[in-house]
Amino acid sequence: MSDSLLEIDRLSVDYETARGDLKALRDITFDVKKGEIVGIVGESGCGKSTLISSILRLTAPNTRFREGEVRFKGQDLLTLPERKMRDLRGADISIVFQDPMQTHNPVLSVGRQMVDIQHRSSASRADKRRRAAQMLGAVGIPDPEARLDQFPHEFSGGMRQRIAIAMALISEPSLLIADEPTTALDATLEVQVIERLRELQQEYNCAILFISHHLGVIAELCDRVVVMYAGAVVESGEVREIFHNPKHPYTRRLIDCDPGHIKERARVLPTIPGEVPDLANLPQGCIFQDRCDQAMPRCAGDVPPLTTLKVGHQAACWLNQMEDPV
Ligand code: SF4
Repeated sequence: MSDSLLEIDRLSVDYETARGDLKALRDITFDVKKGEIVGIVGESGCGKSTLISSILRLTAPNTRFREGEVRFKGQDLLTLPERKMRDLRGADISIVFQDPMQTHNPVLSVGRQMVDIQHRSSASRADKRRRAAQMLGAVGIPDPEARLDQFPHEFSGGMRQRIAIAMALISEPSLLIADEPTTALDATLEVQVIERLRELQQEYNCAILFISHHLGVIAELCDRVVVMYAGAVVESGEVREIFHNPKHPYTRRLIDCDPGHIKERARVLPTIPGEVPDLANLPQGCIFQDRCDQAMPRCAGDVPPLTTLKVGHQAACWLNQMEDPV
């Protein structure tokens, strides 16, 4: 039996717009195993948000699932009745959003929100409150019992994000989707949240799909990483392998641009020149060709397939299929 918890299989998603179909995701394939932490990394516009909303099936009305499946514990979420999807969301699949300032209801105490979120449980209100305090303690909020009666504005940004994690884990989900959960935090709080997430993942043995544009965080937390560019997977593999032996020019440029990898002092942080292509009017051939400093004539002809280079490491670049690989 497969040990995959979540399987994204050849997923292609379009948005119908006045300019024509915008091909937001194309042929996305990867999986998340039970208890594993998988990172998704890429620039804005790479398809991270569409991927999350597709998994949760919380997409805009103009979304069209063109092809593929999103299997969770073997069942295709794209064909599941809405009632069953509602049972899954916030229960077996939970999510932590980017901005802790907007996650919580400002007019309800944290305790009230944490009790309400257990609405599926038949436990008494007192037990739900005890459970809420226990979860606040688990994410490192001091004096949790007393702080249940406080409102979100009485907590710091880092504490609010830890409360959001506590709320996401209160139902002991099999899969936690973390959508850039540290982007709105400063570096110190980011480290604290990452450490806490890792501890909780081990304690609750839930899998985490961690979305970020910050490679340093991905390296710190994840087991595997999927690199996305303009709605497609361009490279995937074990974190250590991808960081030490990247095989796609886009991955290499991302690593070069990561502040943690910059050795010399510079006034301006490096960027990748050029822009993500128009998804309503994709170029023929490799989608990265306009920004790639190693592009060759073949790149403008055919789309490079995602090829397995060694066990667990895949990349979509013609350079890897030449006699003298990169
Ligand atoms: Fe660059 Fe060509 Fe590889 Fe695309 S296929 S990343 S253009 S070398």
